[in-house]
Amino acid sequence: MYGCRGCGRNFAGLGLFDKHRSPLGPHGTCLDPAGITNTAGKPVMELRDGVWSGPKLTKEQAAEIWKKKPTDPPVTV
Ligand SMILES: [Zn+2]
Repeated sequence: MYGCRGCGRNFAGLGLFDKHRSPLGPHGTCLDPAGITNTAGKPVMELRDGVWSGPKLTKEQAAEIWKKKPTDPPVTV
């Protein structure tokens, strides 16, 4: 968990925290996490139990990620 000293928000991952921080200004700027979107225009994080976290995967997305590669058939010489 990563806490932001600038605004006190908590982030589940360093990548999310980095996205929230802008280099603008002498001490950087905090961006509103709800307003940070990816290239598709979708929010990259959501507030869950007081922590800004990446979006939950749907069953289908999770299945896609954890899908096992088919095992190669044994080679007979
Ligand atoms: Zn902040």
